[in-house]
Amino acid sequence: MSGYAAQSFEAALAPYQFMRRDLRADDVALDILYCGVCHSDVHSVRNEWGGASFPMVPGHEIIGRVTDVGASVTRFRAGNVVGVGCMVDSCQHCSPCGQGLEQYCDDGATMTYNAVDRHDGTPTYGGYSDRTVVSDRFVLAIPDGLALEGAAPLLCAGITTWSPLRHWKVGKESKVAVVGLGGLGHMALKLASALGAEVTLFTRSPGKEEDARRLGAHHVVLSTDEAQMTAEKGRFNLILDTVPFVHDLNPYTQTLGLDGTLVLLGQIGPVGPDMSSVPLVMGRRAVAGSLIGGIAETQEMLDFCGRHGIVSDVEVIRMQDINTAYERMLRSDVKYRFVIDMASMKA
Ligand SMILES: [Zn+2]
Ligand SMILES: [Zn+2]
Repeated sequence: MSGYAAQSFEAALAPYQFMRRDLRADDVALDILYCGVCHSDVHSVRNEWGGASFPMVPGHEIIGRVTDVGASVTRFRAGNVVGVGCMVDSCQHCSPCGQGLEQYCDDGATMTYNAVDRHDGTPTYGGYSDRTVVSDRFVLAIPDGLALEGAAPLLCAGITTWSPLRHWKVGKESKVAVVGLGGLGHMALKLASALGAEVTLFTRSPGKEEDARRLGAHHVVLSTDEAQMTAEKGRFNLILDTVPFVHDLNPYTQTLGLDGTLVLLGQIGPVGPDMSSVPLVMGRRAVAGSLIGGIAETQEMLDFCGRHGIVSDVEVIRMQDINTAYERMLRSDVKYRFVIDMASMKA
């Protein structure tokens, strides 16, 4: 295989040749067409979450075309357009796996890259590559009619926002707020509004209003404006907080209504300073977290996006430009997701 890898946490990504396994009976082989660039790719290659193993080939928003299938595969055949997200395997027998929530596997799901295959002990390599091999249970069908470059980010940014919207039963009666307008935030606006909810964006930057409304927000609130924040007190059933760094949650928890929940999607680690329990105790409100989504609900989300014509807003880049893309992502200079066109690898 030919791909791009980081050789250490200090190294830029560079071309890398490597092997993938021969097809097992339940495997699907695909040519990768597009791969989205997720913030966790940057965190992982820079070892900001620890546990990085090198060389690392990142990428977990993969769209590809099936080239071959193992002997026992019945759901896919050569020519199908398919997706692969953040996970490529799990134990398949624990309680979370039994509920279709493989991301919470008791034994730890096998991630698409920077992990170890649970059958043969080889490292997993992600989608910044020309081809891959994945167990059919972790391969998703991509509905006809979706722009494939825009569909790639659905496999991580899409499911990460869809799963809490479904778990907390968002529908036409719901008032949903989204904190932050990046890769996750822009998908949250699209999906929540398509589910019929009344949607508000909380942002620190004036000037995002027009974009936010185009993406599905009905209201935009400047979170740095105390008067605007006070006016939102007690309003929301669900807040999807996509901010990827430590921040003060107190201004947001007070905007939840009775039994409302704020769900952390972007921040792994300590939460904001001095989080007050007052809004929680005084209104049975909750602060929760949520991690990507299971395979069945990922398929449900893709089918929903197919019916509603929803894809991510993307900027397509060449594989060779990945290091520049990382720098731009860290400056939030992308609307709203970079996607690598793998045809550029052959150019
Ligand atoms: Zn991701
Ligand atoms: Zn499991």
